[in-house]
Amino acid sequence: MQRRHLLAAGAAGLALPASALEFAAPRPPVAMRLSPDRIIDITVGIRPFRAQGPRLQIQRLHGKTVVHHYGHGGSGWSLSWGSAQRALALVQAAGLKPGQRLAVVGAGAIGLTTARWAQQAGYPVRLYGKDRAPRVHSSAATGLWTPESRIVTSAHASPEWMSDWEAMARDAFQVHQSYLGLSSGPVQWHDGYVVGDVGFDQPVPNPYAGEPDYPDLAPHVADLRPQGLALAAGEHPFGLRHARRFTQLVFNIPAYQRLLWEDFMRDGGRWQPHELRSTRDFARLPETVVVNCTGDGARMLLGDASMTPVRGQTARLIPQPEVDYALIYRGQGIVALPRRDGLLVATMAPGDFGSSDLRPDRTQSEDAVRRLAHLF
Ligand SMILES: Cc1cc2nc3c(=O)[nH]c(=O)nc-3n(C[C@H](O)[C@H](O)[C@H](O)COP(=O)(O)OP(=O)(O)OC[C@H]3O[C@@H](n4cnc5c(N)ncnc54)[C@H](O)[C@@H]3O)c2cc1C
Repeated sequence: MQRRHLLAAGAAGLALPASALEFAAPRPPVAMRLSPDRIIDITVGIRPFRAQGPRLQIQRLHGKTVVHHYGHGGSGWSLSWGSAQRALALVQAAGLKPGQRLAVVGAGAIGLTTARWAQQAGYPVRLYGKDRAPRVHSSAATGLWTPESRIVTSAHASPEWMSDWEAMARDAFQVHQSYLGLSSGPVQWHDGYVVGDVGFDQPVPNPYAGEPDYPDLAPHVADLRPQGLALAAGEHPFGLRHARRFTQLVFNIPAYQRLLWEDFMRDGGRWQPHELRSTRDFARLPETVVVNCTGDGARMLLGDASMTPVRGQTARLIPQPEVDYALIYRGQGIVALPRRDGLLVATMAPGDFGSSDLRPDRTQSEDAVRRLAHLF
């Protein structure tokens, strides 16, 4: 029970020992050490956004059955397992039987989880890809369970689409949870704070100007996240600002990627570095059924005009293991997340929607770090 609830209970006439109040008082979080000289790395990644939502579709291409499986926007890690389950259902609908070899092209979050899910269903898998971790966009992800992030536009979010999405998010969530409690910590639960300069009942300017309108999908999976708690001044270390606490599933991306890779190889998976330059290259693969998990690469490979690249930049600061909470600066487009490999500060800038520019902009990250530092 939170301190404020206990106080309310006390006011209602229930006798509470002072020690109970002491025990329930929220522990003030350790301040993040935020200064630009602590930046050890800056990475840029591309979210493979598709206005219609992820493409999960069978296509016959030059004599091969290709299962397209790309376009997961800012939700690829979050939705991965649920999406992989649906891709495998398409593989099975195409007639491939367990024991017959499956090709998966792409070794990002989507390709790796698809390969693992297929292996577990009895398919030997050969994984092809231009690159693998850490040289894939999935390695640049922040690592929050955000299945609703840049996944579809409002214009395409029909009730049927939303119901399919919700089922996918729930299926994925269940598998992610089976990775809790492992020594390398691929999946964990973390508390976090959303902090704002104005009250939560007041609108803030959209920091992502130029983006399409997205539907509010979060309420559909609200039961999978503990309800956020509004904190009064004095219950958080952010001065007079407005703050809410939340609790969220977090992925330690490097550990998760490595575990998936090792599990894949241990179970007999094969890896073949290989770039497909045109759709004709699908026909040159020996396997008859191919799952195409090329993410933003599908934009070029298939000439898919429905895909929009969305750039995202993340600075990594020297790890600070004593920090155990995430921080979202409302209205500023800045997220800080403690991971084992560093304290991440992710930013978005005007013009990122539609941009595939992979050049890091150090000034942008330094500015974000300074703005966060002001919060403490
Ligand atoms: C900054 C940032 C923060 C993010 N934060 C989160 C988050 O907190 N939570 C979340 O759920 N998601 C997040 N995402 C989104 C998530 O990272 C993506 O949805 C996910 O990475 C998509 O995975 P993918 O496997 O489809 O693509 P990729 O990781 O891009 O993998 C594509 C694979 O295909 C290969 N490939 C491409 N083209 C070819 C070709 N022609 N021939 C052969 N191989 C090819 C590549 O080499 C690679 O192996 C974030 C993304 C970014 C950029």
